[in-house]
Amino acid sequence: MMSEIAQNIARIEKRIDAACRRACRRREDVRLIAVSKTVPPERIREAYEAGLRDFGENRVQEAEAKRPALVDLDITWHMIGHLQSNKAQTARELFQWIHSIDSLRIAERLDRTPPAAAEPVWAHNAGTPLPVLIEVNLGEEAAKSGVTADVALDLARAIGALPNLALCGLMTVPPLTEDPEDARPYFSRLRELGKVIDSARLPNVSMGELSMGMSHDFEVAVEEGATMVRVGSAIFGERP
Ligand SMILES: *Cc1c(COP(=O)(O)O)cnc(C)c1O
Repeated sequence: MMSEIAQNIARIEKRIDAACRRACRRREDVRLIAVSKTVPPERIREAYEAGLRDFGENRVQEAEAKRPALVDLDITWHMIGHLQSNKAQTARELFQWIHSIDSLRIAERLDRTPPAAAEPVWAHNAGTPLPVLIEVNLGEEAAKSGVTADVALDLARAIGALPNLALCGLMTVPPLTEDPEDARPYFSRLRELGKVIDSARLPNVSMGELSMGMSHDFEVAVEEGATMVRVGSAIFGERP
């Protein structure tokens, strides 16, 4: 019998598939990231055994605490939450992707802190640029992190000059509403913002990745061009 997590993943896979078809997109161009914040290692392992390889966490400390129990798994880890400067070094060691760059300051800290020589066993990416995304607060909500759209181009230019980071795209969390359709204009705006930044042809900047869409609106996000959807509760159940 399939575990509940495996069943949830199978259902989500079907829905991503259908959304790709509606948008004439290829399934392999959309990465399903399982958001495992608050989820214990045993359940993360279950999702891994059901076939998932990308996982997202929003707090460095929590990710660090859970990691020793998961080092044997071939997981690509994504940092999707607000990152504080004093956690940059640890984040550099724990994650292969950072979705949530919201200041030049944090980008510079990550750029200056490649993994130390004495690496923990889970350290990744020694000597290679770290893929990062700029988080854009399109709804301009005070409680949310991310930069406003009008400064994204300048930030992209500045990050492009940092040798140890690879700027790969944009991320957003739209204002939460009942109807997933309400998120569509935000998703299309993120896609268009990516195009505007790409058309500036900045050195070492490519906006190919769009991280957008969560449990309640990932299908709309895929229709609007998401290359990464971040799905938590639809996989693991409601968080406490
Ligand atoms: C928690 C979280 C998610 C996943 O949310 P769900 O609604 O549980 O799918 C996605 N992105 C970010 C940035 C989050 O913090």
